[in-house]
Amino acid sequence: RNSCVSDSSDSVISSGSDSDGQVYKVVLLGEHGVGKSSLARIFGGVEDSNDCEETGNTYDRSLVVDDEETSILLYDIWEQDNSQWLQDQCMRMGDAYIIVYSVTDKSSFEKASELRIQLRRARQSENIPIILVGNKSDLVRSREVSMDEGSACAVVFDCKFIETSASLHHNVRDLFEGIVRQIRLRKDSKEE
Ligand code: GDP
Ligand code: MG
Repeated sequence: RNSCVSDSSDSVISSGSDSDGQVYKVVLLGEHGVGKSSLARIFGGVEDSNDCEETGNTYDRSLVVDDEETSILLYDIWEQDNSQWLQDQCMRMGDAYIIVYSVTDKSSFEKASELRIQLRRARQSENIPIILVGNKSDLVRSREVSMDEGSACAVVFDCKFIETSASLHHNVRDLFEGIVRQIRLRKDSKEE
């Protein structure tokens, strides 16, 4: 095997694939400024570099979750070029989605709902794993969306929910482990 990473606290980016050779594509969606790239960089093991406002990054890495290795390709390309074509592409390509809003920005929360609806439309009959993420949970004083609102929305939209702080690295690992578990559940139910 060509994977060089097994411990997700490691900062090596691997190009491996899991035992059945499959790499799962996970796509980050959400309004500008909510923290998508910050979360993606943590996933990729790249150190915080706020000043490089890059777009169009993809992170390839294997995670060991519950003693099993899964390869993930994380796409942080939603805002790249702001092209409709690319966004349509994003809606079609993912095996799983992470929809991010900022708990300090109500309109980003409303945008998250729109994205969920768009995704449902694009992939009607498929039951794709989605996690709704309320990021910036560290900014307590400027919070505009409560945890209850977030989790209620996730119930309505039939997806998982987690609050994270990319700044404090809080719950970020749980987020990516969660997406891996979702993908596996989905895969297992498909194989039955
Ligand atoms: P993107 O446009 O969705 O890719 O968002 P970025 O990752 O570029 O983040 C936008 C801004 O929010 C940057 O200045 C980040 O440093 C900041 N940011 C991202 N996540 C957090 C967080 O959890 N807490 C705080 N306080 N700031 C964050
Ligand atoms: Mg970004």
